[in-house]
Amino acid sequence: MPFKEATERIFNKKICMNCYASNPIRATTCRKCGSHELRMKAKEKRGGQ
Ligand SMILES: [Zn+2]
Repeated sequence: MPFKEATERIFNKKICMNCYASNPIRATTCRKCGSHELRMKAKEKRGGQ
């Protein structure tokens, strides 16, 4: 299923909260603006806070 692979690639990204650039999953700072405000792109909706 090519879709599964594509989805996993999307999940392996972090989005900068400052400039919304996509960064590698292992990035600790944004490669574009240097911000530390990175978060996973995937929405975590599993409940239980
Ligand atoms: Zn940034």
